[in-house]
Amino acid sequence: MSQYLVTGGAGYVGGVVAAHLLEAGHQVVVLDDLSTGFRESVPAGATFVQGRVQDAAEVLDGSFDGVLHFAASSQVGESVVDPEKYWRNNVAGSLELLTAMRKTGVRRLVFSSTAAVYGEPETTPIVESAPTSPTNPYGASKLAVDHMITSEAKAHGLAAVSLRYFNVAGAYGRQGERHDPETHLIPLVFQAAQGRRPHISVFGEDYPTPDGTCVRDYIHVADLAEAHLLALDAAKPGEHLICNLGNGNGFSVREVIEAVRRVTGREIKAVVAERRPGDPAVLVASADRAREALGWRPRRADLDGIVADAWAFALSLADGADAAAAAAAPRHP
Ligand code: UDP
Repeated sequence: MSQYLVTGGAGYVGGVVAAHLLEAGHQVVVLDDLSTGFRESVPAGATFVQGRVQDAAEVLDGSFDGVLHFAASSQVGESVVDPEKYWRNNVAGSLELLTAMRKTGVRRLVFSSTAAVYGEPETTPIVESAPTSPTNPYGASKLAVDHMITSEAKAHGLAAVSLRYFNVAGAYGRQGERHDPETHLIPLVFQAAQGRRPHISVFGEDYPTPDGTCVRDYIHVADLAEAHLLALDAAKPGEHLICNLGNGNGFSVREVIEAVRRVTGREIKAVVAERRPGDPAVLVASADRAREALGWRPRRADLDGIVADAWAFALSLADGADAAAAAAAPRHP
């Protein structure tokens, strides 16, 4: 049994990873300032400390075996209008965390990076050696932290893995995607299915893709979580391993909307809208390195299954008839 610090463990991905660590028999301390996370997303069994990642030094000590670092600001649009927030929270915050880890001798790190570091890809599927050219400050801030970690590993022997997520989706029991404001496709289509918005806007249908809408690689949050546990084992002192995490399958915006129609059985009005600035046409991962270096195998790649898990979570948040449907539905795990 090991003890891990999970920064951002009240968020969507951090909370699911914390749950997986606990299920594997580890001790977990969650550090989260609740700026975007939810106290109830911290799994039972974890010790919760409300605080900023900049203050990690107040929590960390030599009893920790490693850190999983999720705490970050993560809204692309916001990062364009308020870039300072991204440099401060994501870059300066990570620098403080690395410093606290060095001072306390905690020498193992798994970092939550993103496909946004690649920007508009030249080839697809995207491999880790592809050029990194982020198109927004969010991606730039995550890339800066990746560079920071590489140098820390070289200079000071940190054992580190960065996982570059593609489109994380699905839910793990009562832990699911919940942002305010919501910008992600699947939860927004659910809102249209629930009558909480009049329609879903399809951002552009003149992309060079089979149906003209953008193609993304959707990965189940529980598959993603499993990769983090494998990464803890794979991390080697003095090395910084970087792995993409996706299924290697692309689904278009229209295919996602169709999947939500199938899973929910509801009518969903889709209206074509302008392209969203900065959206690449196709973002699909090559996850060959994660398979080879981590021994990772995604087990929940089916889009309808991903959508079904996310829908069960969306219903559990809802009121009235939807809440009753959620209570009656079978739940896993
Ligand atoms: N999208 C859309 N309508 C929406 C939200 C998203 O058509 O209301 C599209 C978006 O343009 C992108 C895809 O859905 O092609 C996935 O977007 P999301 O924001 O979920 O993830 P991203 O790929 O930006 O990380």
